Amino acid sequence: LSDRLEGAFKTLKGESKLTEINIAQSVKEIRRALVAADVNYKIAKEFTDKVKDKALGQENVLKAVRPGELMVKIVMDELVELMGGQAAGINLNGSPTVILIAGLQGSGKTTFSGKLSLFLKEKRKKKPLLVACDVYRPAAINQINVLGEQVGVPVYTEPENKNPVEIALKAIAHAQETNRDVVIVDTAGRLSIDEAMMKEIANIKEAIQPNETLFVVDSMTGQDAVNTAKAFNDVINYDGVVLTKLDGDTRGGAALSVKYTVGKPIKFVSTGEQMDTLDVFYPDRMAQRILGMGDIVSFVEKAQEQFDEEEAKRLEKKIKRNKLDFNDFLSQIYQIRKMGDLKSLMKMIPGMNKMTRDLDIDDKALNRVEAIIQSMTPQERENPEVLNMSRKKRIAMGCGQTMDDINRFIKQFDQMRKFMHKMSKTPGMGGMPGAGM
Ligand code: GDP
Ligand code: MG
Repeated sequence: LSDRLEGAFKTLKGESKLTEINIAQSVKEIRRALVAADVNYKIAKEFTDKVKDKALGQENVLKAVRPGELMVKIVMDELVELMGGQAAGINLNGSPTVILIAGLQGSGKTTFSGKLSLFLKEKRKKKPLLVACDVYRPAAINQINVLGEQVGVPVYTEPENKNPVEIALKAIAHAQETNRDVVIVDTAGRLSIDEAMMKEIANIKEAIQPNETLFVVDSMTGQDAVNTAKAFNDVINYDGVVLTKLDGDTRGGAALSVKYTVGKPIKFVSTGEQMDTLDVFYPDRMAQRILGMGDIVSFVEKAQEQFDEEEAKRLEKKIKRNKLDFNDFLSQIYQIRKMGDLKSLMKMIPGMNKMTRDLDIDDKALNRVEAIIQSMTPQERENPEVLNMSRKKRIAMGCGQTMDDINRFIKQFDQMRKFMHKMSKTPGMGGMPGAGM
């Protein structure tokens, strides 16, 4: 047990002192984290003002046992809501369904078109047709042909034709003839927004009347993503957004800004060059990503460290006087239990998963020890020395365990106390296991 306790001490994250953290301060840190995650400053400010109002409205934030967690939860909920709440599906009505793909050059349109065709084929049991409407780059046709072959989806091309509207219309007719039920129209993009491109994409849209228009944007472009998203929306009024290149260390803040500014749902996220790296967009997952990438949880941790130090000092004093008692032991058990909640909180954060796996806490053993201590009188808890045979018998009866169990626990407690006391007198060893770590 003392082994386990030592581990627990080490990782103890007491949280009850978080009440001292002032909401305004937390909100400031959250804002900083959002900006660091690529969220536009103005949006971050509006957002955190809302969070602040909400937190202040909930009186219990300041009184809560774990206000830090509560704050994180408020932020999470707000983020999720801001990004649309639930995953938005795509419209697959129409025979065939026509999906138009738009965006800047290099944003990942062609790659996404390939991925979407695979997704529809595998997950929606559809028979897609890919259409190459990028008539400007000779390599474009080759690229989409290669992708089509990879995912086993036919590709409609007209290498000699330089009119994307014509190609798209003929492709739809071709799909009807060949029994393909979804037509994915991949278009050309420019490096930056220009009128010719906007006109072309608007013309294509007008001609083919797609059931679904998706705007593809590179999430690594951060703030620019918002401007591009807005410009395209003004012209083609698309139905949804595809965020690409979310692999790597992009912060995901673009997702928040785009949704906030344009009001259109994000429908897919693309996370790699391979054809199977496409995910339906889930606002809660993105919120977790944004939270995890920023430093939002750091204020929780900071407060915890502070608590650890205070608690460690208090315990250290008791240990030095060899006065550690069952109450201290019990309070440690409660702290360990709180770790359970913290664990689930930490699990949400990318990269923290491994850490939580390392903290394995044996719940049953804790329950038994807790039961024993709870069967003691206050006097016994403060003075472990008074435990004689008849008291132990009473405790055993009280908690439904055997005399052996009681004796074993008291012996372990005693050893631990002696050990800690001895350690506290050894220079340079710290006061107790974990103190000062
Ligand atoms: P397009 O000009 O909009 O058609 O863009 P492409 O589909 O040709 O993609 C441009 C480059 O980005 C290519 O090298 C792709 O392999 C790469 N790419 C596209 N999507 C992703 C993604 O989600 N993650 C990564 N890492 N690369 C991507
Ligand atoms: Mg392309």
